[in-house]
Amino acid sequence: MCPTEQSHQHGQRAYLGERSAKILLEWLNSKARPKNDRVGKLLALNDDLSALPSTPEQLKRMLGAAKKIDGLVRGSKLRLMPVLDMTAGSSSGSRYWHVEWVPTKSTLQTRALVELLRLASSGSLSRIRRCGDSDCHVWFFARFRHQMFHSQHCQKEAFRKDPAEMARRRDYMRNERAKQRLQDQKGGG
Ligand SMILES: [Zn+2]
Repeated sequence: MCPTEQSHQHGQRAYLGERSAKILLEWLNSKARPKNDRVGKLLALNDDLSALPSTPEQLKRMLGAAKKIDGLVRGSKLRLMPVLDMTAGSSSGSRYWHVEWVPTKSTLQTRALVELLRLASSGSLSRIRRCGDSDCHVWFFARFRHQMFHSQHCQKEAFRKDPAEMARRRDYMRNERAKQRLQDQKGGG
């Protein structure tokens, strides 16, 4: 029915945010991507935002990152236009307007930036990661919160190359999970 949504038939389950990250990942993994790419910079800065600050230094770092992100997003001069698909669908019997916001200057980079902003506003930007295997480093969408590798093969490879480093990482992640639980409890109470 709708040409833009025709059968994205995934053999497996599509995870929340994963499908909308497709163009972003394509750009990140593109050989044509320049070193000082805005999209890449935004992702790096996002790492400084993800942890809840518990020291004045961390707070300063977080505020600094937020300021830089704001500057990079404004500086992109990204312009969007609405594209309507009135045939897209209906929800509980009533038709709705399917509005897609697309960049007026449509390049892989601008479309990737739109996806990045979408993922960032839904809180899933930290799911965009680089594979932890030093020989791979491909960008991927982490389906699970603690996923560090884009494939099981890479996970095995990384472990084979450096078991000590892997043990350190495991301890680090365990610590992070404990911290997160503590924060969740505080937030809930
Ligand atoms: Zn990998």
